[in-house]
Amino acid sequence: MLHYTRNNFKGWLRVDGFILNVNLVHNEDLIVSVLSKYELLTLYRFYGARHSQIQLGYKIDFETETNAGITISRLRNVLHLGYPWLYDLKRLMVWQQFSQLMYKHLQSNDAELDSIYYDLLDDAGKIFEKQNPKRIAIESYVKLLGHEGRLHTEHFCFICEEEIINKISLARAFLPAHPQCINALVIDSQAIEVLFLEANSMFLSDIEVEQIYAVLLEGL
Ligand SMILES: [Zn+2]
Repeated sequence: MLHYTRNNFKGWLRVDGFILNVNLVHNEDLIVSVLSKYELLTLYRFYGARHSQIQLGYKIDFETETNAGITISRLRNVLHLGYPWLYDLKRLMVWQQFSQLMYKHLQSNDAELDSIYYDLLDDAGKIFEKQNPKRIAIESYVKLLGHEGRLHTEHFCFICEEEIINKISLARAFLPAHPQCINALVIDSQAIEVLFLEANSMFLSDIEVEQIYAVLLEGL
């Protein structure tokens, strides 16, 4: 597959990606982190604060301009690829929270990325208006954990190391535990089994989804 990295490319290139972080510098300029298919790009946008299409979570089509001797590439000719649900503030809030979590998870990774991170956001964005967005975030995160080999499908408590039967709790990074061992939410273990094995939250109630989403917000 033909793709590029910022180290071997000089000139202009047009790609698309998700804005995962925005920092204001010098009053009106922005440093923008964009997740493209294969890397997390850090780009400089002159007068970016004047442009409404540069917002956390937005999917954009853009050009990067790389010049010899300048360490940070420029973000140019941004086109916002909108979603119909963007005007639903509750959905947008979940989307931006998940985008920020993804940024914190990937920011220290300077190497080429597997496309799964981009693909997870791309897939989630397409169905984000069709169901509870927190369910989609949780299911996406389970896929991420599975890809990274961090999903604990065997239900043993990470505190006492004993098997978990019937009722389960989840700690940060969805580590399984007995509810009494971490004094946290109580969930039916079969519902979690379906979530972990099929990335499907169908057996979780909206209240449980709310609680699991709060665990997700602790960090990827
Ligand atoms: Zn335990």
